[in-house]
Amino acid sequence: MARAASSARLTVITGPSGVGKGTLVSRLLQRQPRIWLSISATTRQPRAGEVDGVHYFFLSRDAFEAQVAAGGFLEWAEFAGNLYGTPRQPVEQHLAEGRPVLLEIELEGARQVRHSFPSGQQLLIQPPSFEELERRIRGRGTDSEAAIAKRLERARVELAAAAEFDACLVNGDLEVALADLEQLMDLGTSKS
Ligand code: ADP
Ligand code: 5GP
Repeated sequence: MARAASSARLTVITGPSGVGKGTLVSRLLQRQPRIWLSISATTRQPRAGEVDGVHYFFLSRDAFEAQVAAGGFLEWAEFAGNLYGTPRQPVEQHLAEGRPVLLEIELEGARQVRHSFPSGQQLLIQPPSFEELERRIRGRGTDSEAAIAKRLERARVELAAAAEFDACLVNGDLEVALADLEQLMDLGTSKS
């Protein structure tokens, strides 16, 4: 696939469900509006408050599979029983325009992007402890017991893959994690 002609960088953020990726990324975007965050497609049902085309493109399994067949995804993977994928064209377009591009995706997708964008940066967000991770998933109050069990099982696999990443970042204190993330992305810190 085409590589970015500019110096714009692709950053992949991965980490177990509930570790705080969404929280960190939304704070980062407030502070760094030039970053472009990819909007993924998924077959999962929207959670309360999630808007189609804003948080995700919510697709039927058939529609998702048609996009896969058409080569429309940069990467895609199954996670906890649902399909998730990164639409290819907008990522390539924003990199070509020179915008820093951020993907917030799970481990299998990160592995695929490592091949298509070897110059990209891959960051793993870690919880302060596994107990705190479970507290956060439950505290979010959006997932069923069955979904929580699948996410915790998957979390162990994701956390065990730490050595594959360019850097790991512990999301303990949110402000500290945010500053660390800005530093790793070479963005400089700015006050919120
Ligand atoms: P993810 O996107 O990784 O699944 P979320 O951003 O939805 O995770 O965060 C999961 C829960 O943890 C949310 O209720 C969020 O408010 C909380 N959370 C996120 N970061 C922190 C943090 N640094 N300290 C304590 N709670 C946090
Ligand atoms: P959630 O259902 O909690 O929104 O997301 C579940 C998992 O799917 C998270 O680990 C999230 O990073 C991942 N995810 C979201 N979008 C994509 C995507 O486009 N591709 C892949 N591979 N994973 C994604």
